[in-house]
Amino acid sequence: MSRKTIILPKGRRARSGSPWIFSNEIRMDAAAKGIAAGAIVNIRGEDGRGFGTGYFNPKSLIAVRLLAEECDAVIDKDFFVERLARALRLRDSLYEKPFYRLAHAEGDHLPGLVIDRFGDTLTVQIGTAGMEKQRGPILAALDQLLSPATVILRGDAPSRALEGLDSYVETVKGKGHRIAVEENGARYIADLTEGQKTGWYYDQRDNRAFIAHFVKEKGVAKGRSVLDAYSYTGGFGILAAIAGARETVCLDSSAPALALAEESARANGAKIKAVKADVFEELERLIAADEKFDIVLADPPPFVKSKRDLEPGAKAYRKLARLAAQVTAPDGILMLASCSHNIPPDRFAAECAQGLLRAGRRARLIRQAGAGPDHPVHPLLPESAYLKALAYALD
Ligand code: SAH
Repeated sequence: MSRKTIILPKGRRARSGSPWIFSNEIRMDAAAKGIAAGAIVNIRGEDGRGFGTGYFNPKSLIAVRLLAEECDAVIDKDFFVERLARALRLRDSLYEKPFYRLAHAEGDHLPGLVIDRFGDTLTVQIGTAGMEKQRGPILAALDQLLSPATVILRGDAPSRALEGLDSYVETVKGKGHRIAVEENGARYIADLTEGQKTGWYYDQRDNRAFIAHFVKEKGVAKGRSVLDAYSYTGGFGILAAIAGARETVCLDSSAPALALAEESARANGAKIKAVKADVFEELERLIAADEKFDIVLADPPPFVKSKRDLEPGAKAYRKLARLAAQVTAPDGILMLASCSHNIPPDRFAAECAQGLLRAGRRARLIRQAGAGPDHPVHPLLPESAYLKALAYALD
């Protein structure tokens, strides 16, 4: 079957270097509408000039995602071997052990494809109809490069609905879903089929290590106390406990996540206190009881899920900053994070600053970080930079 062509009346967007072309930027005529979701297409200007090869979805607002700069590029196993080998080289130079995000979608020039590596186990998240069609070549390329023992497809991201895709979780190779993640010298237990997203959040690795710095104060034998709000399976809290925190509270609304956190803490010979509660309610309770922690961090789920939610979401971040600051002890450390790509970094920082002000706390901003380098950002796609973490030293 010959490859279909998508016409860009102005060709503006493709020249801008973004890997996305929106549905209102292409000629959406009957021919285009008739192209199957996920088909590989050439992208050309009205004058026939080529803009590249991509995949198309007539149902999606992001109609085309570019795969290659030239037309008629062959998208097969070898294509994925080449892209994934490049992704692998970068991680190999960054990490001693094979635990990392191996492919970060557009950031690794693999739009719609996220792969996390846990030693010889891989979780694969396919987010688009175009990548779903390439499932065979992707899995073959992974076999050729890494011969993984276990491969789990996590096709259950809610955003798949926007692409007209169904939801599934499937172990296509090997078995066993509970694995040990090695990170920052700690061993965590993750559940790769039941857990959220791909089962582990590698994006906070460097921020977890940063927080662990503050747990031991020079000359203070017993360590500092830590509140890990929205702890999930204890990524921050367990590392802090291992580093010698006096007391570590992991706070989350998910019982299974907290059970894993307790199990992981024990496996590391560390102790945490797991509290199942809504973070806002628990913070109000702690404030009323005048309980404070030396180190507080809050890494909530996205409060701004779409552009429409910006104002209410921004307000929620401000409130969280205010409450979290109120439970931070004098001379304490506070880290606030947002994983919403729909709130720009400066707006998030402004809301956090307002929250601190309203809590009556004077602060020094000591870290402004994103995700680690195994989550590359596409330089012309700001949306691929989603994580923001701000750490403050409070007076
Ligand atoms: N900090 C974690 C990741 C947090 S993900 C890490 O380092 O791995 C966000 C977490 O927030 C999830 O575990 C989810 O269960 C929890 N959550 C969502 N809404 C919540 C609420 N209202 N109160 C408490 N926890 C909540």
